[in-house]
Amino acid sequence: MQRALGGGFAPPLGGHFRFTWPVWKMKAELAFILYTVVGVRAADKTITMEVSIWGTRGSYPVARAEMLRYGGNTTCAAVRVGDTHIVLDAGTGLRGLGDALLNQPDPPRHILLLITHTHWDHIIGFPFFTPLFEPHTRLEIYGLQRTQASLRTTIANALSDPLLPLGFEDLRADLHFHEINGDGTFALGQDVLVRTAQVNHPYRALGYRIESAHGVLCFIPDTGPFHTVLFGDERVAWNGTPANSSADLQALDQMRNDVVRLAADADWLIYDAQFTDEQYLRFPHWGHSSYSQALEIAEEASVRNLLFFHHDPHRTDADLDREVAVHQGRTTSVRVHGAYEGMRLSRERPL
Ligand SMILES: [Zn+2]
Ligand SMILES: [Zn+2]
Repeated sequence: MQRALGGGFAPPLGGHFRFTWPVWKMKAELAFILYTVVGVRAADKTITMEVSIWGTRGSYPVARAEMLRYGGNTTCAAVRVGDTHIVLDAGTGLRGLGDALLNQPDPPRHILLLITHTHWDHIIGFPFFTPLFEPHTRLEIYGLQRTQASLRTTIANALSDPLLPLGFEDLRADLHFHEINGDGTFALGQDVLVRTAQVNHPYRALGYRIESAHGVLCFIPDTGPFHTVLFGDERVAWNGTPANSSADLQALDQMRNDVVRLAADADWLIYDAQFTDEQYLRFPHWGHSSYSQALEIAEEASVRNLLFFHHDPHRTDADLDREVAVHQGRTTSVRVHGAYEGMRLSRERPL
């Protein structure tokens, strides 16, 4: 900071001397920083935020012809802001993304993978991510800190005998793991701020907010609503009784507030919409939301676009078209979409 402020003219560090530094000079330096850092970045039209969707399906991949328009791969999205390459979740969609990244004229060498949780549908693409086999790749993997096993151990176990004839020792990329303890904020690259919040899902999961001067994306692929079941680190056996202790209700309320804050004013909210309302009533202990529950959060958070996501593996393209139309008809403040493979989002190309 000293160097940035003074640019070679800073007073010596420490002691009372700093307080004698003329106010006008500090103001001038602050203006200089605002001009050179904030001003130039804001004016840099070459940087954009580009979001691409590579997998939209929940639970397991599907390949039926009547589902291919929205897509059969499990959850994966990519965000690019300038030179910062972020991947959200490692479902089977990650395989196609890996090939696309390596096919670029100048493939990225530094990739940041943010994992919401380690259920199979969110990590099953990991061993098939082709940049893992490139010696120049540095992959930073972020995920929830757990008491049961570290993030590294969980992923390493998924890549081990006899499940797969491949281990960490076969990967050529340089891997780094970062565990996140619930709610937090951290910077990625020069232009991106990431915020996290814990969401309501069996064995816990994270939601991510990716924020830059060029767009805001909120990614919450798996969460139940916040009134019936409170999920934690254990399996919930549903006995038909909604949460009723004041501690549980308070925790659910807090979690809901955190989720609304995480999504506040986002350009795009990608949100769990696995169920119809009727299905939700039968499976409240699965930790997924209905279309109307997703819309309720989107409206409260004042997002511009809601993208239904984590599509039920039985949902056909025609079913999804219908749900999007029905729910678009129920709101005037949010634009409603069904996320599909190949979808691209940026402020420069409004949906
Ligand atoms: Zn899932
Ligand atoms: Zn899950």
